[in-house]
Amino acid sequence: MKHLDYQRQDQWQKPTNILCQSPISLKKSSSTNMKGQLVLINFHQVIMIKDQIVGQQFMSQGDLDIFGIKWQLERFHFHEHSEHRIENNYYDIEVHFVFKNNTSILVVAVLGNVNKYSQSKFVELFENNYAQFELASIFPKKSNYYSYQGSLTTPPFDQSVRWLVMADPIEISFADLLAIKESYPNNYRQEQPLKKRKINYHITP
Ligand SMILES: [Zn+2]
Repeated sequence: MKHLDYQRQDQWQKPTNILCQSPISLKKSSSTNMKGQLVLINFHQVIMIKDQIVGQQFMSQGDLDIFGIKWQLERFHFHEHSEHRIENNYYDIEVHFVFKNNTSILVVAVLGNVNKYSQSKFVELFENNYAQFELASIFPKKSNYYSYQGSLTTPPFDQSVRWLVMADPIEISFADLLAIKESYPNNYRQEQPLKKRKINYHITP
């Protein structure tokens, strides 16, 4: 399947609303501190892998209670390197967990860096050994997080996406990075202007 060409982002379909696009750069100093609730995704099993124009999607199930709403996990995928920046830094990878509630979309983003002492996590996933794979292993156990209003980072750039970006990164192995690089080479969208949006920084108990 022909995937999106990240070297030619200027030729992608243009968003209809340019005010609230993702990704952005996140900084504690320009965010509003708020109380947060623990982001606890109840993962069910991974169902199947689907190759799409935007890259491989892992169709999966799970749920998350946050903002007084129950969200259903639909899929997750990877970016290499990260799309968001935290305190000016890009990370080696970013995982996007895409949730829906009717027509509303919530994306939970987890950034990750290689640590040479880390055990491999993703290899099983890319070898279709889903039964062996623990989704919770690619999610920080407890973390503060940023939230803001943005868009999907691939065409058609749907608006009104609620973003939760976990402030603490996960650690991955070098083998994980290679597996992700092979399926998702340099698939990060350019940073988008913040415009007048507010970023919240949620401190979990
Ligand atoms: Zn994504």
